[in-house]
Amino acid sequence: MLSKSCQKKIVQVIEKIKPKRIAVTMPEGMKMDLKEIAQLIEYNNCEVVLIVEPCFGACDLRDWEAQLLDCDLLLHLGHSDFGLKTMVPTEYIEVFSDYSPFQQVKNNLKKLEKYKKIALCSTVQHILELEKIKDFLEQNKKIVFVPKSKKAKYDGQVLGCDASGPETINSNIDCVLFVGGGLFHAFQILEKTTIPVLTIGPDKKEITDITGKRELILKRKIIKQKKFEYSKTIGLLVSFKRGQLKKNIFEIKKKLEGQGKEVYILAMDYISKEKILGIDAEVLVNTACPRIEEDNIFDVPVINLEDIIFQQQKQK
Ligand code: SF4
Repeated sequence: MLSKSCQKKIVQVIEKIKPKRIAVTMPEGMKMDLKEIAQLIEYNNCEVVLIVEPCFGACDLRDWEAQLLDCDLLLHLGHSDFGLKTMVPTEYIEVFSDYSPFQQVKNNLKKLEKYKKIALCSTVQHILELEKIKDFLEQNKKIVFVPKSKKAKYDGQVLGCDASGPETINSNIDCVLFVGGGLFHAFQILEKTTIPVLTIGPDKKEITDITGKRELILKRKIIKQKKFEYSKTIGLLVSFKRGQLKKNIFEIKKKLEGQGKEVYILAMDYISKEKILGIDAEVLVNTACPRIEEDNIFDVPVINLEDIIFQQQKQK
């Protein structure tokens, strides 16, 4: 069921902007509320289009599609503003979780005893909880940082493609405490820092140290680099999603060709294995969401462009 605060925000936006036709996009986890969202918008005298393509982040705007459908407002639910310039007026309706990690942190304080200087990070869903945890940790003699990442709206917020906040202060802190479920965001923190990373979230009973996974991630990257070096045919994954699309894709192709590769640019919206069956690439170089490399959806290795170590260009 759509939360009361979410309903309230949608109505407030409609009253403020007075649109005639609204396009709505949302993450998979909110799809059960589709009907309710449409009814709420229509009840407020607007036409509504539910864009039901998968939406994984604020990078996945759908403003172009909203424009195609003559919508004068796009409601993007579940994510915070990513800083993209939009083709139609766009309002982000952030959705905050009911889960409170506070008690778990309180009960697990012993797990943080080795660490004095702690960076607190989270996803937008749990971001409002950070202040309370920060106060509690400070009362327990910790020095707490809530670093801002570049693409994030809030202090402490990290994205699966941006953990520049903890990365920047890496050498000044003893650990990162991440509040959030799963490993999607935590993996980015592991990749970008060298210190212990601990997590607490709705899917965990206690503070869990995930630092050991870093070695695995790094080893996998080394193996992928080797496979890249030995490969001949490369598929270059490009996403049309507005916040993922790289404009310099042909330069990237040339750079890869300079490494002696045969390169095919594979552009698509939702990235899936079935779409590239005829290519027979030995390795896929990913320019889209960096988290795709861990999804294991392809039979061949996926290496993020930013992870490739380029050799000196081969002479022609
Ligand atoms: S690029 Fe990936 S990690 Fe970044 S916001 Fe989009 S879906 Fe999330």
